[in-house]
Amino acid sequence: MVKGVLYLNHGTIVKVSGPLVVAEGMRHASMFDVVRVGKANLIGEVIEMHGDRASIQVYEETEGLGPGDVVVSTNLPVSVELGPGLIGSIFDGIQRPLDEIMKISGHNLTRGVMVPSLNRERKWNFVKCVNEGAYVEAGDVLGTVTETEVVVHKIMVPYGVSGTILKIEEGSFTVTDTIAVVETEKGKVELAMMQTWPVRKERPYQKKLPPEMPMVTGQRVIDCLFPVAKGGVAAIPGPFGSGKTITQHQLAKWAEADIVVYIGCGERGNEMTDVLMEFPKLVDPRTGKSIMERTVLIANTSDMPVAAREASIYTGITIAEYFRDMGYSVALMADSTSRWAEALREMSGRLEEMPGEEGYPAYLGSRLAQFYERAGRIVSLGSEKREGTLTAIGAVSPPGGDFSEPVTQATLRIVKVFWGLDANLAYKRHFPAINYLTSYSLYVDTLEKWFDENISPLWCKLRIRMLQTLQDEAELEEIVKLVGMDSLSPQDRLKMEVARSIREDFLHQLAFHEVDTYTSLEKQFLLMRLIFEYYDEAVILLKDGGNIEEIVNIPVREAIGRFKYVKEEEIHARYADISEKIRNELKALAGKEEI
Ligand code: ADP
Repeated sequence: MVKGVLYLNHGTIVKVSGPLVVAEGMRHASMFDVVRVGKANLIGEVIEMHGDRASIQVYEETEGLGPGDVVVSTNLPVSVELGPGLIGSIFDGIQRPLDEIMKISGHNLTRGVMVPSLNRERKWNFVKCVNEGAYVEAGDVLGTVTETEVVVHKIMVPYGVSGTILKIEEGSFTVTDTIAVVETEKGKVELAMMQTWPVRKERPYQKKLPPEMPMVTGQRVIDCLFPVAKGGVAAIPGPFGSGKTITQHQLAKWAEADIVVYIGCGERGNEMTDVLMEFPKLVDPRTGKSIMERTVLIANTSDMPVAAREASIYTGITIAEYFRDMGYSVALMADSTSRWAEALREMSGRLEEMPGEEGYPAYLGSRLAQFYERAGRIVSLGSEKREGTLTAIGAVSPPGGDFSEPVTQATLRIVKVFWGLDANLAYKRHFPAINYLTSYSLYVDTLEKWFDENISPLWCKLRIRMLQTLQDEAELEEIVKLVGMDSLSPQDRLKMEVARSIREDFLHQLAFHEVDTYTSLEKQFLLMRLIFEYYDEAVILLKDGGNIEEIVNIPVREAIGRFKYVKEEEIHARYADISEKIRNELKALAGKEEI
């Protein structure tokens, strides 16, 4: 939050309606200015202006406010502070560090507390990478700070600044100390490590590129069937209890991203507590260090006022863009965008706007689109032309699991990956409960080349066969329901068995199992191969007159089922072993060879 307060504009409250405050005498304020409201100095934002009358959404409880109270505009838009100290922090929706507010106000957060988002006392070791006399432009890296053991924070020239470096210093500095002086066309500009950015404005870049690489998540149903690209956009809608939060946590823990920004937007407090307690204990498989060494958490629970939910979404995405600009791959999770949409609906109702579908404002779709459009694969500003990605994954919680409601529908029109969580699958304890028949990824075609080159040309073929088998199973199930299993041909019975194996041995994945929680692409590929090696050999045997009962009951099938629990370092040996057993056991059935 920007604190450079200029007490120029005093307005007076004429109406208070929940988180909405209407004030008059605000002639000098502009849309999206930050304002301080009432004696308690509550933080708010102007969201509508009519003449000198401003409608303000207040980010804190408005209890006790009334007509006649003073509103002061800072004449600055809601902005975030960007610089060393972001990683590992836990912020509220308006980027106040939770531990600092708690130090001031105890566990029952008092209102109006202002604390700097980035610690002003802490010193960071700045190592320069340009020298005096060099010409720099916005986006160029002046130097670096080792922020955590795994993140090198690049200090970039802020937007709008270009010129010759007159002075640049190395050493230990706070985020506001001057580290460099640049001679620009408009005179000398002193640069510190910290910069600010208005949250509602997309951070600039040179150009957008099409996403071409998958963001590997270690979750088999995602990576294999419905992959998301780095720089892509995905949504996880699902009814209560179907696993949205667990899936988001799994992605935050395991997704192949340099930086993770996790926004807990209006979720139940205890879920956020889980995140706060659990994340610091988790070890990042790639670095062996705590996951917090690459994570920024925005904790906005449902007991905070609704307006703060919107701020948390913008705060999160702006921080994510900042790291993207450094050339990192950033994954942003928002849990849940429905809570944000509900906040929009509430504010819109109080503003007495014309309601759209189910009371949501008519601009719901465009707001959601503006958020998701900030994801992407980009070439950064600056002469170095770094490539960075921002992948955005939003959970949606439709009431009663009804995907036809406006937030889910509006989201589906924007995102390219849809992981639809299914109450029935969750009820059957099939986790992750991502419906393999209705979910989709529009990145499959673009990612095909990557999988061909980096895993195997067989990857995409097996993927299609898996989906096909699952679809066939759904159709066969209808027949079985009508006329019973015995009516199926041996070929179809085999197909049903293989589909079951795909579901139970491949797609089913336990988040809480030490090994199963993450599966490398290599291991996913070997497991797919085992399932289809068995299928292909079994089909041949069946043609040659093999007995279906015997074929489906061979002992090696249990070993295929347990392959997901094999430790990564043992997968190749175990694969070779099981693969050989498949052939031997089926051959034995054919009477060609004894086992
Ligand atoms: P939601 O956020 O949709 O309300 P949760 O993410 O809290 O649902 O999941 C509800 C429950 O489902 C969890 O407490 C857990 O027991 C189970 N669950 C969901 N996903 C998995 C998973 N991948 N592995 C194991 N259990 C899961």
